[in-house]
Amino acid sequence: MAKNTVLVSGGAGYIGSHVTVELIEAGYNVVVADNFSNCDATCFEGVKKITGKKIPFVEMDFCDAEAVNDLFAKYKIDAVIHFAAFKAVGESVEKPVLYYKNNLCSFLNVLDAASHHGGCNVLFSSSATVYGEAENLPVTEKTPRLPATSPYGNTKQICEDILRDTVKATNVNRSPEWAIKGIALRYFNPIGAHPSALIGELPRGVPNNLVPFITQTAIGKRECLSIFGNDYPTADGTCLRDYIDVVDLAKAHVAAVARMLEGRMEEDYEIFNIGTGRPVSVYELVSAFEKVNGLKLNYKYAPRRAGDVVAIWADTALANEKLGWKAERSVEDTLASAWAWEKHIAEMEAVKASSEE
Ligand code: UDP
Repeated sequence: MAKNTVLVSGGAGYIGSHVTVELIEAGYNVVVADNFSNCDATCFEGVKKITGKKIPFVEMDFCDAEAVNDLFAKYKIDAVIHFAAFKAVGESVEKPVLYYKNNLCSFLNVLDAASHHGGCNVLFSSSATVYGEAENLPVTEKTPRLPATSPYGNTKQICEDILRDTVKATNVNRSPEWAIKGIALRYFNPIGAHPSALIGELPRGVPNNLVPFITQTAIGKRECLSIFGNDYPTADGTCLRDYIDVVDLAKAHVAAVARMLEGRMEEDYEIFNIGTGRPVSVYELVSAFEKVNGLKLNYKYAPRRAGDVVAIWADTALANEKLGWKAERSVEDTLASAWAWEKHIAEMEAVKASSEE
């Protein structure tokens, strides 16, 4: 039987590159497309090294409708995993039009092209931000979404709704082989890197997220980590999150794609939480990082960061049962991989600097 082809939009980025590796290792043909707007070629090169495969790559912007259409015309795409989007919460508050335009247009173009090329299975990368400050924890997929607190979060909610409505319309009006099926995966806090240390998170400028800030502080790029708030109503006063290993997260995508392609979906549009189900405080994460990597981190307590929720973690029962997927890597192994990746970045930068001398 011919292997199914999966398009990964934004596949050169942090999560996209890990997903590409896992898809290839699971035996899929993968087409990667990216415009390098928020990354360089480092991770895509890493993916090629890890898999030892030639991977079709298209440099393109998903806001360019014609380019998206051409892509679907050129390859027979069985499923698309859509990552191509901007993701900085703070920037989205400053530049809402940019965020709405980019994140919505790119996704609409994917759905439009999929509709014109014989239907498709669409996996959308959503986020736990859709839950906001939930009243009951852990959150299940049935926990009501709350109004988004940033344009970025709102684009996630709107794209979920666009996918739901498109799936509904195509399954009512079309023959099954022309229909669009959809899955939204709501990620909690993805962290860590591939065990090879050849791919990982490469933030541009000062990192917003906790783990890259920790590793950059440990390597000496940042002087001191600020822990935002130690007066929250939690055991140690710092916020609680559900930190999900990026390789485990990538494997959830493979499980979801297989569910779609093998006709195992129970609804035409499904939603799954992708997390570990375990809350970890910022202080616990910092301490675990120090312990597993045998170093002392320079950190201080700072005021709360605007917009942070106190605590959120996932009920993962649905993903465990329906996707047959479970987070497996320990937080210690994940934090060791994040540190190995930061050291690999330092080595790459040293090689680059010496070649420029
Ligand atoms: N955080 C922190 N210092 C930082 C970055 C983040 O204390 O430099 C905290 C943040 O307040 C939150 C947790 O780490 O409680 C996770 O933040 P991140 O930005 O990684 O993800 P979020 O949960 O906001 O999506």
